[in-house]
Amino acid sequence: MNKPVLLVVDDDAQVLAAVRRDLRARYRESYMVVSASSGEEALATIRELKARGDALALVISDQRMPGIQGTEVLARSREAYPLARRVMLTAYSDIDAAIKAINEAHLDHYLSKPWDPPEERLFPVVDDLLDSWQAEYLPEASGLRLVGHQWSPQSHAIKDFLASNLIPYRWLDIERNPDAPALLDAAGVRADGLPVLIFEDGSVLRSPEPREVAARLGRPLSAAYDVYDLVIVGAGPAGLAAAVYGASEGLRTLLLDRHAPGGQAGSSSRIENYLGFPAGVSGSELTRRAVTQAQRLGAEFLVPLEAIGLSIDAGYKRLALGDGREIITRTLLAATGMSYREHPAPGVAEHAGAGVYYGSSSTEAPVLAGQRVVVVGGGNSAGQSAMYLSRYAKDVQIVVRSESLRDTMSQYLIDQIARTPNVRLRARTEVERVEGNGRVERVAFRSNADGATKVEEVDAVFVFIGTRPRSDWLPAGVRRDAKGFVLTGRDLLADPAHTKGWKEPREPFSLETSVPGVFAAGDIRAGAMNRVASAVGEGSMVVRLVHDYLALT
Ligand SMILES: Cc1cc2nc3c(=O)[nH]c(=O)nc-3n(C[C@H](O)[C@H](O)[C@H](O)COP(=O)(O)OP(=O)(O)OC[C@H]3O[C@@H](n4cnc5c(N)ncnc54)[C@H](O)[C@@H]3O)c2cc1C
Repeated sequence: MNKPVLLVVDDDAQVLAAVRRDLRARYRESYMVVSASSGEEALATIRELKARGDALALVISDQRMPGIQGTEVLARSREAYPLARRVMLTAYSDIDAAIKAINEAHLDHYLSKPWDPPEERLFPVVDDLLDSWQAEYLPEASGLRLVGHQWSPQSHAIKDFLASNLIPYRWLDIERNPDAPALLDAAGVRADGLPVLIFEDGSVLRSPEPREVAARLGRPLSAAYDVYDLVIVGAGPAGLAAAVYGASEGLRTLLLDRHAPGGQAGSSSRIENYLGFPAGVSGSELTRRAVTQAQRLGAEFLVPLEAIGLSIDAGYKRLALGDGREIITRTLLAATGMSYREHPAPGVAEHAGAGVYYGSSSTEAPVLAGQRVVVVGGGNSAGQSAMYLSRYAKDVQIVVRSESLRDTMSQYLIDQIARTPNVRLRARTEVERVEGNGRVERVAFRSNADGATKVEEVDAVFVFIGTRPRSDWLPAGVRRDAKGFVLTGRDLLADPAHTKGWKEPREPFSLETSVPGVFAAGDIRAGAMNRVASAVGEGSMVVRLVHDYLALT
């Protein structure tokens, strides 16, 4: 197989030669640098690469060219190579075009000309983009392969586990992929034992549990020490930030998650409002960076591992785990966030994982090419999902009970939806029933305007209808509000049960719960802002409070 390609496009021969020279000097061992002197030539090259089965890792294109412009080259490259990273080359005066392209062509970065010295202004950007591309890319013939039935909940659970844990794999639908039967034959597996995971060395796991997969991939599942300074439960943005700060400030820090790092943010296809990422950043990319950073600084990370209980023993916290073991720590951070509320309509629960999905669209979106999907809910997460699904599905309907999205969704998403022809809003409507035989086939919609019910053919339903805190693993001594969100800091002072139980000669620290040394940060906390940045802020802050607590004990 040929090396993956870096494609450079510019109509200025001098600039083209200079980028080509710089890229070759640094990347020629692992990549092939290909150039095109016009938009038309670039698109022809992309078609050729696709026909040859070559991988395209990066496109760097000038914006202003006669004929097809840079924005279009970048947007069209995405149809053939959705994973390829896209960079626009602009003159300083053209920053407006770059910003427009961020929205229209889903640009990953823009580089101002000239980029000298390349060691400072070109290579760090390209290194970073190629690292993130490598994390998602899997060469055709190698790596981990999962063979199963598209509408099987077991297949969905393994896909979701692999994708959320950023483990690249290739999915082969036994009914649609002609290579699947031969692969099963070669692995000596019968088609009635699916799903099956086939590893690079040819070994297989049939219908595996996430823990078996993690163990087989050599991921640690037990704690290295007897006692920790800080144990963080939940590796969403709050937990990851606490792990980075805890480890970097010399605390013996352990982070664990029942499913995967990233939390709700990890399932976001594009976070547009996180500081420092003008082109937006996918949840999985932000997670990949955060996990690498936390581990590099020395945090221990165990996944999948569920916390099921907590008890206090002479100031030490004993965390009970789903596998029957226990971890002891001096302080604990509850950062278990929120999860999506289940849709109560008949037929929804039966089809969970078989056409009904909660919270995440990125795992299943690519296989929904040409199909009809419904997104239930009017918040930003529903809007982001609808936009992501629109890249693949033929028709995306957003179903909401209200009149419009105005009060529940950010304007930038409302605008994007209005500009996207295959996404439409079905207002004043509810999902009354989901029907199908082993997979979603139809949905009955009830109009709140006239009470009429209409049944339509639908292939998948994505549910985003509100959330509930994941705080049920905490003991009763950790005070919560009526909805189950954890009370912290001064909010506790209004709770009479807290005042009776609190024995310290001080008030609780700002993110401390009603149990001294047990902290809460992010969406699990009463009064949380429900944003990535605020969760990260609280996770970072908490480490300072942990130091203050430890200094008193
Ligand atoms: C699809 C989507 C898109 C979003 N887009 C944006 C956006 O663009 N901008 C923005 O600012 N915000 C966005 N948000 C909101 C943002 O993601 C959340 O506010 C943020 O993730 C909260 O972080 P957290 O760390 O508090 O909790 P969470 O992200 O909820 O993470 C909690 C973690 O705890 C783990 N866990 C739960 N229970 C246990 C247990 N018992 N044991 C072990 N682990 C456990 C979970 O598996 C999870 O990984 C979006 C949310 C969603 C769902």
